[in-house]
Amino acid sequence: MKQGLLIVVSGPSGTGKGTVCGKLLAETPQLAYSISATTRQPREGEVDGQNYYFLTREQFESEIAAGGFLEYADVYGNYYGTPLKKLEERLQAGQDILLEIDTQGALNVMKKCPEGIFIFLLPPSMAELERRIKGRGSETSESLERRLGAAREEISVGKQYTYVVVNTTVKTAVKRIQAIIDAEHSKAERNEDLFEI
Ligand code: 5GP
Repeated sequence: MKQGLLIVVSGPSGTGKGTVCGKLLAETPQLAYSISATTRQPREGEVDGQNYYFLTREQFESEIAAGGFLEYADVYGNYYGTPLKKLEERLQAGQDILLEIDTQGALNVMKKCPEGIFIFLLPPSMAELERRIKGRGSETSESLERRLGAAREEISVGKQYTYVVVNTTVKTAVKRIQAIIDAEHSKAERNEDLFEI
């Protein structure tokens, strides 16, 4: 049984990562989402065990101590982490898995799983990113500046990823990521069995 691919997608907030990943998952049946654990409060409509596993800080910290995460990070004052056991089981069963995580977490995964596929999603421009963040309507000028500063920092880490995809439209970004996944599956090193003809 071939191992599934570990696909990591990051990008600054406002890039449209959530929308792109949602559509990618809906249109790629062999790809499954890794549900993260977090200590942040659920937003309206979010379901425990579906969007995230919502944990208390105590629960999260005892999972860290038990080695239960592939990676975890503190993002805006809350913990976020990728549960390890389920991920390993699914990869071993040949399932491709998508992690939508921040750059700190992705850098840790690069060290632990160099065979992973790291895709950085960029907005078409900073002006467009600003427009998209403002479009959410929930930002004060101070929090907008903070988000843009954080976005610049995240973008500077993006060069360490394997692939970069510009989210000009959701449709084209999804197509590009699907093309990357297909190409990765076609690598000779992943298909040694095919040569036994
Ligand atoms: P949000 O609170 O908006 O759902 O997510 C905030 C940030 O945390 C996003 O950049 C998201 O990609 C990141 N994130 C979500 N799950 C994980 C995780 O398991 N690990 C890490 N390192 N970051 C995560």
